[in-house]
Amino acid sequence: MVLDVHVLGTASARPTPDRAVSGSLVKGPDGIAVIDAGEGFQTRYAQQRRRLKNHSVGSTLKPGAVDVLAFTHGHLDHTWGAFPWLQSLNLENRQQPLLVLAPTSSIAIEALLDGAPLPGAVPPADLARQWLAWFSLGAEMIRFPIQWVLGDVLADRWAEVDPKTGRATLLDAMPQPAGWSKSTLSPLATRHAVPSCGWMVQQHPMAGKFDRARADTLNLNSKQRAMLARGENVQAEDGTAIEAAWFRGGERSAISVLISGDTESEPPGWAPEIAPTVLIHEATFLDEQQSKADEHQHSTATGAAASARAVGASVLALTHYSNRIKSSIGPQQEAAAEADGLPVVALNDNDRMVVHDDGRVAHLVWSKEGWKETSIAPNR
Ligand SMILES: [Zn+2]
Ligand SMILES: [Zn+2]
Repeated sequence: MVLDVHVLGTASARPTPDRAVSGSLVKGPDGIAVIDAGEGFQTRYAQQRRRLKNHSVGSTLKPGAVDVLAFTHGHLDHTWGAFPWLQSLNLENRQQPLLVLAPTSSIAIEALLDGAPLPGAVPPADLARQWLAWFSLGAEMIRFPIQWVLGDVLADRWAEVDPKTGRATLLDAMPQPAGWSKSTLSPLATRHAVPSCGWMVQQHPMAGKFDRARADTLNLNSKQRAMLARGENVQAEDGTAIEAAWFRGGERSAISVLISGDTESEPPGWAPEIAPTVLIHEATFLDEQQSKADEHQHSTATGAAASARAVGASVLALTHYSNRIKSSIGPQQEAAAEADGLPVVALNDNDRMVVHDDGRVAHLVWSKEGWKETSIAPNR
């Protein structure tokens, strides 16, 4: 199993001929998480599936495997393609449930709990507001089950919204996508002009491989091997104990991918123990536009490197470039200069980041001929 991230857009608010707005898919052991879905998302998703078919035999991104759509925040370059895509899934007769998650404020949650209109303090681009608009545009008519969940991420307060009434009910905790058991999706608060968070997909640690050679040396029978493989100790014929722990290589550590969405650098709460294997972080500006980054609560490439160090990432991948950034080489160089040995890659549209079970990371660079793989030695 691996985590395979498809980055379908690397522009910031305005697309360019070479870059689309945000929208990523994380394919993990349990299914697919879509993180943000800006304008044109469904077309870009279909194009990526065609590229996989032509250039990456065996890899798939079936829409039926998508269990969750999680938004980092409500700016339209991250959300405008979501509703048309949901309508297409409906037309395709999707049956599987879908969890939709988004950050909002407690002010918005309170109003929805009371069935009251959203107060003026809730910004126009807040996802609570957008969802109410989508509901009135027909999201309530969608036939497959959608669980609409809004949360105040810092307060860890989550509520489910009924698309028919627009009213919310409080939940005990943020739900996980249906059927997920080998991985977890979790939000991490960020700081931007509207309520925002990053999303981390973490594959749980796995036991190491069973040591067959050792079992052979000890002449163990198949029943003994099966018990040891399940983690049960057994007794040898002479009565001595044979411990299951002798046959397991060290536990393979959890692997994870964190997608920042839009944020200022080093948001509060980003601590080294979060330690994502790969951090995909916005780098809207270069150093020359630091004041713009501050003004709009975005990061520079240098700031992305600071975020990566703050959160203990092993690899940093940059995205979300402003129109002024023509080539990803500039952000790559500025971040690398600040990264203190941390490997930095700069993404372009349709690139993939693949994290293997043993922590190996590869950057799959898209070109018309297919994906070209570059291995990266993670900084551990
Ligand atoms: Zn953005
Ligand atoms: Zn934004």
